Amino acid sequence: MAVGQQVIFPPYRIKVVESIPILTVEERRQALADAGYNPFNLRADQVTIDLLSDSGTGATSAVQEAAASAGDESYAGARSWFRFHEELRDLTGYPHILPVHQGRAGERILFSSLLKPGQICISNTHFDTTHANVELAGAEPRDLPCPEAMDLDSEYPFKGNLDIEALKRALSGPDRHRIGLVLMTVTNNGLGAQPASMANLMAASELCGHHRVPFFLDGARFAENAWLVGQREPGYDDWTPRQIATRAFQLADGCIVSLKKDGLSAIGGFIGLRSEQLHARCEANLIATEGFSTYGGLAGRDLERLAVGLREVVDAAYLGARAASTARLAQKICESGVDIVQPPGIHALYLNAGRLLSHLPPHQFPGHALGCQLYLDGGIRCAELGSLYLGNIDDQYRLVSCAPFELVRLAIPRRVYTDTHLDYVATVLADIARHPRRARGYRIVSAPPVLRPFKVRLEPTAVAA
Ligand SMILES: *Cc1c(COP(=O)(O)O)cnc(C)c1O
Repeated sequence: MAVGQQVIFPPYRIKVVESIPILTVEERRQALADAGYNPFNLRADQVTIDLLSDSGTGATSAVQEAAASAGDESYAGARSWFRFHEELRDLTGYPHILPVHQGRAGERILFSSLLKPGQICISNTHFDTTHANVELAGAEPRDLPCPEAMDLDSEYPFKGNLDIEALKRALSGPDRHRIGLVLMTVTNNGLGAQPASMANLMAASELCGHHRVPFFLDGARFAENAWLVGQREPGYDDWTPRQIATRAFQLADGCIVSLKKDGLSAIGGFIGLRSEQLHARCEANLIATEGFSTYGGLAGRDLERLAVGLREVVDAAYLGARAASTARLAQKICESGVDIVQPPGIHALYLNAGRLLSHLPPHQFPGHALGCQLYLDGGIRCAELGSLYLGNIDDQYRLVSCAPFELVRLAIPRRVYTDTHLDYVATVLADIARHPRRARGYRIVSAPPVLRPFKVRLEPTAVAA
């Protein structure tokens, strides 16, 4: 990275490649129809650029693969466990680390050990599996995002913040004895990949300490949040991303982390804890449901890849290049007249489909329509975050209440696509923006009662509205 010359490029070169499928327009049309117009049902080999998720989709490094080949698969006390454990103990400062196979296993184990039925879990925004696991523990998830987060166009640098005033009110209000946990999601994946500031984490931590409520991080993107703090928050410009991340973990009583994102590996997660008692309860649950406490559902080779990935991910050259690549895509998209949730984060861009496809009302699912059009025109797969996912739908599949926004998420896998691939995405999108009325609306043909986005089937409405 030649910062002095304003040239920023990824601090790696490509050693192993995987070919990507390129289909004809007719093949894509057929594939999408066969998938019930639900991109989740496409086969990955029908997708040219896959921006469905940044989870577990990153590329590993030669160093990670070399470490993996030396993985120790001993049932208990494996060498690989000690490497993973030391790396995380140094990074987080937590005395207790429990490995899990992915983030949601950590959620289930922590919440069932910490939350009592009827208690409330407060968050800047619960991620969807986090939300579900709080409910499965019999508790109530409550989102208190900062008010700036609701203005998609605002350039406020920390729209991932928790609403501190609302937290204060909750901690002294009628429900105060029911608050069992405050959980900060960094970065805020549910709300536009926006970071939380250190000042916000400190304020939340202090309040929780004062009221003796446990304060935890959901740190799936701890390194990306640290990078954005270093760029945007006064006083942190000479801190390394790793120092910022460590400071953030220090502010909390513990964490749950999916390592499928900033672990730079396909699988993995961990629970970090200060409390010895809570550790003992979680450990018993872990051994019964995930695996012994020195592997927790992971192979030794996964632990090795993670131990190395956790170092690579806090490299300033890597984070700077990744942030620059996402920002470059954001700029191209904005130049073509498509609005995104501002300011751009790192792991994903959120397109304002409701505004772009304003000829489609929410009950024709403009976000879904834009996602389908990106596939039909360019073989690009992404995820709807609008009324199809978040709205309420009755048993005749009619939309009865819509989502606050009709968004489409373009998630950027780590170290996978070059700027040339992303330029292609911008070009396909710019073409849609020139003729937005080409995009047809959709109606639901069948939907399961739970986990709708994954299994719903749709069909295009007869004519463009
Ligand atoms: C991905 C994610 C999770 C769940 O992790 P999995 O590894 O997918 O189970 C939890 N919280 C956040 C913020 C996430 O992004």
